[in-house]
Amino acid sequence: MKAHPYALSKTRCHYAATRAGLEFVITRRPFKTPFYSVAQSLDAAGMPVAIGYNALLLARVGEVIGMAINGQRLWRRIEQLAAFTESQRPYTRRAFTELHRQSRVWLRSQFEEAGLSVATDAGGNLIGRLGGANPSLKPILTGSHSDTVPQGGRFDGIAGVLAGLEVAHALSDCGARMQHPLEVVDFLSEEPSDYGVSCVGSRAMVGRLTPEMLQQTAADNSKLRDAINGVGGQPARLNRPLRPAGSIAGFFELHIEQGPVLEAEGLDIGIVTDIVGIRRLGLVVKGAADHAGTTPMGLRRDALVGAAKIVSWVNDYACSGSDEQTYLVGTVGKLEVIPNGANVVPGEVRMTLEMRGNSETKVDEFAVEAVAFAKAVCGEMGLDFSHALLSASTPMSCHPFVQTAIEQACRERGAAYRSMASGAGHDAAYMGRLGPSGMIFIPCLSGRSHCPEEWASAEQLALGAQILLDAMLIFDQSRC
Ligand SMILES: [Zn+2]
Repeated sequence: MKAHPYALSKTRCHYAATRAGLEFVITRRPFKTPFYSVAQSLDAAGMPVAIGYNALLLARVGEVIGMAINGQRLWRRIEQLAAFTESQRPYTRRAFTELHRQSRVWLRSQFEEAGLSVATDAGGNLIGRLGGANPSLKPILTGSHSDTVPQGGRFDGIAGVLAGLEVAHALSDCGARMQHPLEVVDFLSEEPSDYGVSCVGSRAMVGRLTPEMLQQTAADNSKLRDAINGVGGQPARLNRPLRPAGSIAGFFELHIEQGPVLEAEGLDIGIVTDIVGIRRLGLVVKGAADHAGTTPMGLRRDALVGAAKIVSWVNDYACSGSDEQTYLVGTVGKLEVIPNGANVVPGEVRMTLEMRGNSETKVDEFAVEAVAFAKAVCGEMGLDFSHALLSASTPMSCHPFVQTAIEQACRERGAAYRSMASGAGHDAAYMGRLGPSGMIFIPCLSGRSHCPEEWASAEQLALGAQILLDAMLIFDQSRC
């Protein structure tokens, strides 16, 4: 491996490399270069390598040395994996079904084709591993999920699994290794399955799958623990984290945005700053179901009128509580009116109030104030009010090092980007408990997701995967 004297600028470096007939040029200072070990492994694999002297931009170095992802291969795999769908209900590939099992047989074969060693962990996560140049380092993980909601889309989840696989495959193609071991994860059942639990695999990995969750049953009375066993997991081992906090060097998840912001602003990449915490409350407003014709307005106890005031208050509160720093949304998305008759005054309303935000304090305040308002308004109207906490998850802040690596990769590739909070939950929210974690969003058509119309183009996916690779290489080198 010889030092290359011509590498004075990016353009001249390219030119010099071409003139010299070199396939690969490394343009960071020798020995201190983050890519020096990559150069060594390329050299060991018999590929022409040269070292330049000036510190060029890392992402460009990745490009120069040929570590570009293969966008066509990625797109082909998206089409192949999306084709594992219930034929009557595209695109449906529910966790724990025979169809999902078959898709994982295929996925395993693709992991192996990329040179990964494959295993299923006790939480039922399918994991492909590529050894690192320095095996003593903790692994860097990437991935997402391969299950779908009923009648979902072709990109939610699998974009991240297959982009992660493409990162590993691109490294394998060059005979290169990161410093850290690389693991590509297909997390089990990120979407709420028939057992009613979401993020089964990532919860299991960090020890947040409770005994109560494992006992939850589906319509056929089978238990989640048996279902995990059925996909090759070991539920008996899930009473503690499969990986302790601090056991990973980092985690990157690529995902479609599932919202309209990037497309509307004409941007390529979203750098996720926070993943929201979600609080769900069950609210019950009780009045009296009376005859809609004979009960005078002044004598009614109409539960729906009280509920409507609460719904309206929630909307106003969330609107006024959001600003540049604070992401806050509130939704009453489920409403059951009893008895729900055209000629009956509504006697009872059961509804769910869901609040999401990037600040736990703000979500807490929202919940407290919502309950206080509901009590007060129901009191004034002679209605009874009760509430119960249905679920709560804490927000996760994406690690600054991960965000910085993604931003640097975007700048070097000329990708247009912005920082943004994720209003949707993701496996990364749990992985943040193990080590520095973050997410890359790519745009999706009209912001549509969880529906058959969900769409991202081959170019958007390829750029996202390239940013993922570049960012992981930057992170890999900076964390040694
Ligand atoms: Zn998803």
